[in-house]
Amino acid sequence: MSFLAPPLMPEEAAARIGWFIRLRWLAAAGVLVFAVVGDRLLKLQFAIAPFILIGIFIALYNAAFMLLTHRVRPVGRWTNRFAFAQVGIDILTLTVLMHFGGGIENPFISYFLFHTIIAAILLPRYKAELQVVLASICIVILAIAEFTGLLTHHHIVGLLPVELELYNNWKFVTVALFALITTLFIAAFLAASIAQRLHQRERQLAQANEILKEQDRIKSQYVMRVAHDLAGPAAMISSCLQLVTKGLTGPIPEKALDMVQSAQRKSKFLGHLIKDLLSLSRIKAAKEIPKTEVKLQGIINQVFEDLQQRVAEKNLTLEQKFPATLPAVYGNTEAIHELFCNLVTNAVKYTLVGGQVEVTASNKGEEVLVKVQDNGVGIPAEALPHIFEEFYRADNVKVEAMEGTGLGLSIVKQILNTHGGKIWVESEQGKGTTFSFTLLVAGDTGVAGHIRKEV
Ligand code: ADP
Repeated sequence: MSFLAPPLMPEEAAARIGWFIRLRWLAAAGVLVFAVVGDRLLKLQFAIAPFILIGIFIALYNAAFMLLTHRVRPVGRWTNRFAFAQVGIDILTLTVLMHFGGGIENPFISYFLFHTIIAAILLPRYKAELQVVLASICIVILAIAEFTGLLTHHHIVGLLPVELELYNNWKFVTVALFALITTLFIAAFLAASIAQRLHQRERQLAQANEILKEQDRIKSQYVMRVAHDLAGPAAMISSCLQLVTKGLTGPIPEKALDMVQSAQRKSKFLGHLIKDLLSLSRIKAAKEIPKTEVKLQGIINQVFEDLQQRVAEKNLTLEQKFPATLPAVYGNTEAIHELFCNLVTNAVKYTLVGGQVEVTASNKGEEVLVKVQDNGVGIPAEALPHIFEEFYRADNVKVEAMEGTGLGLSIVKQILNTHGGKIWVESEQGKGTTFSFTLLVAGDTGVAGHIRKEV
């Protein structure tokens, strides 16, 4: 029966490789510090030059690993192979370091433990087992080679009395090897047991998350059907009421007119609610939406045109700053239009008469950053964490002139989720609000790159 942990998912392994590389900087620094402290402070006598060279060697190959991680970005099976090679090179380097530092007599020989633990956490089962075996073989060969005189033993004079010659004492060598190797295997077993449980939990959580997502999708399909069925009758009610209030069905008493007008307002709101519900459930129900290159300039022009009348009514200044060199983004034209429409409509709605709304875009390498800024009523600090929640509306906008469904920002968030984008907000009540969001640039090689980012 094998005792080591199951392999990590490739993404988890890739993340931990980064951590492993950071840890190795410490190891390189530790070797160099030991060389200096041992020599200057502890007045030990040992082969200092190999220590410094090995410290530099570790730093150099770690830099190479770091470059490889950033440039080549090993994926899939290569992530594991890359981790395997790193642990192997570390074990061999540590063996050489131990040889120059007193071999089996060196108290730091227990540092092989770190590599077995890291291997048990990072690598698939059989590869981790191979590393534990490799470490054991290296230690045995080192001890036997020094014992038999095949390799010169390097004393650390000042640490242990030289005349003890422990490396040459077969009883000490046998017991030390036994203790060390059993410790390596037991440590690997313990690390693997803990890692195994953690991996299982992570997988269970990931599965539960998938089930929840699927259920949410089914719920959204249901909401979509209901909203779709409600849309027709609601539109019908609204136009009938309009005919009545316009007097096209004949004169009606003033009191009745008041009531019909109020019903008309509510039916208009119902229409908005159904439209937003349809949009939100459509995005949530879709597994994937088709994407292509999208030019933002055309979209923003269209949104500004649609809002012209409301902007004029409120005497607002509506401006856009889109550089001519702005690259196209990778997305769904309709969805991105809806995203801009919701954010700019909100800015117009929540800005008081005579205010200003500005939309700016800038190129940030692989992303385009868009800001929708207004000097309107702002969002109270306590409402900020909730504004992307479905149906949430802050207290300061619950007035008739600023009526809303509380779904616009949820739609925006969902659209950005399906586009690999991020959104954040800065606001001060009474001063104004800025929504910033990012979309991925569509490049020549971009499409594949973006799909990878969205995963
Ligand atoms: P609504 O239909 O109410 O506008 P949204 O989901 O679009 O729904 O927005 C949620 C809430 O966030 C709004 O009710 C409002 O409190 C706040 N909000 C959104 N945009 C702005 C803005 N530009 N200025 C002030 N408050 C805003």
